[in-house]
Amino acid sequence: MTFSVEFIAVGTELLLGQIVNTNASWIGSRLADAGLGHYRQTVIGDNFARLVDEIRAAAARSDAVILSGGLGPTQDDITREAMAAAADVELVRDDEYVSRLRAYWESRGRQMPESNLKQADHPVGSLLLDNPKGTAPGLRLDAHGAVLFAVPGVPAELYPMFDNQVLPALRELAGGLDGVMVSRVLRSWGESESRIGEMFDDIFHESTNPTVAFLASSGEIKVRLTAWAKTNEEAEALIAPLEATVRERLGPRIFGADEDTIEQVIYHLLRAKGWSLGTAESATGGMIAARLTSVPGCSDTFRGSVIAYQQDIKEGLLGVDPVTIAEHGVVSEAVAMEMAAGAAKTLGVDVAVSVTGSAGPDPQDKPAGTMVIGVHTPTGTSARMLKFPGDRERVRTYTTTAALHHLRLALQGEAQPQRWL
Ligand code: ATP
Ligand code: MG
Repeated sequence: MTFSVEFIAVGTELLLGQIVNTNASWIGSRLADAGLGHYRQTVIGDNFARLVDEIRAAAARSDAVILSGGLGPTQDDITREAMAAAADVELVRDDEYVSRLRAYWESRGRQMPESNLKQADHPVGSLLLDNPKGTAPGLRLDAHGAVLFAVPGVPAELYPMFDNQVLPALRELAGGLDGVMVSRVLRSWGESESRIGEMFDDIFHESTNPTVAFLASSGEIKVRLTAWAKTNEEAEALIAPLEATVRERLGPRIFGADEDTIEQVIYHLLRAKGWSLGTAESATGGMIAARLTSVPGCSDTFRGSVIAYQQDIKEGLLGVDPVTIAEHGVVSEAVAMEMAAGAAKTLGVDVAVSVTGSAGPDPQDKPAGTMVIGVHTPTGTSARMLKFPGDRERVRTYTTTAALHHLRLALQGEAQPQRWL
């Protein structure tokens, strides 16, 4: 019999559709990467009796059960109590954790509500899993031949706890999976997920170690390569040739690896060239500038923006010629280029990115979803008109990401891409 893991997401909000069960998909992909059997996922509301029943049933059919959510301090957080009841043990209070909780609250200069002490309760016989990102510890408890793990519902707390504490324990419990798992994430932009899937169909089917997986998020596609080996070096050596193939096939669509973000990549490209940056934004209203300024220390390169929403601002602050607007329309490549070149002058920067467009829902000069991205660098000025699907927010978000990538490609000496993605 192979070792099997199942996952229970706890929370009435999940049943009501108020939050999406992303923990299930994230844990599912982690277990798949780790080669662990995983055959069932369940969602249970914040109901004590149903949760106890479900934990017992899961413990009877699986070797390990992971629960997410319900570890907080409020009345509806019942995972600890339900685990204890399912394992037929009592809850005890951990004095050391009580002191840690008090210290945490004191360090923020606040009085701790007594209800927080609940987070220091745990079923007799359980191990506490450290939570560096929050106050509720995770739990590990043996129950009726299975091992139960409880992790916080908040993804930012769950992810590191799962990777650093739960996954290694599962691998040890499963036996025969000793060694290390190494992942490399290659980040790409400019192709749809389905197209990337097609481009790597052969690798996807042939590769077992490393495995390849694709993940899409707001226009960017991540290609994750995961290898298992006795040592880090061996795992890296397994990944290297596949990484080279992926990089070769995707070319300039790849903009970074692992934790790199497009904002950081732009920052480093500008630093390397000693160039300063500004934006001229109409339909995105500052969204590009907001993304660029998310990088700590970006004042080395970023100088400022002109939010040129109305035509007279485009003319007055950016020097766009009224004749250009009259001839080409305000949503045009000609205007986007004048905006970018004008911003470079007004802001005193080497590089500027501009956006003019019709974000919708009503058409503005051109049909809704028509957006133009302009880029000015010391080597030239260009613009591209693109069509984005979806509602106003989606159009603006995707345009912002696209503008960052057009800028990045220009800094790398590549032409602006023709396609919207
Ligand atoms: P807290 O200490 O914040 O109460 P908790 O461990 O008790 O954390 P929950 O109260 O169940 O967790 O959920 C807290 C938040 O975590 C939810 O509002 C939601 O944003 C997120 N969350 C919970 N479960 C999931 C899930 N299955 N998938 C994605 N997000 C989730
Ligand atoms: Mg909670």
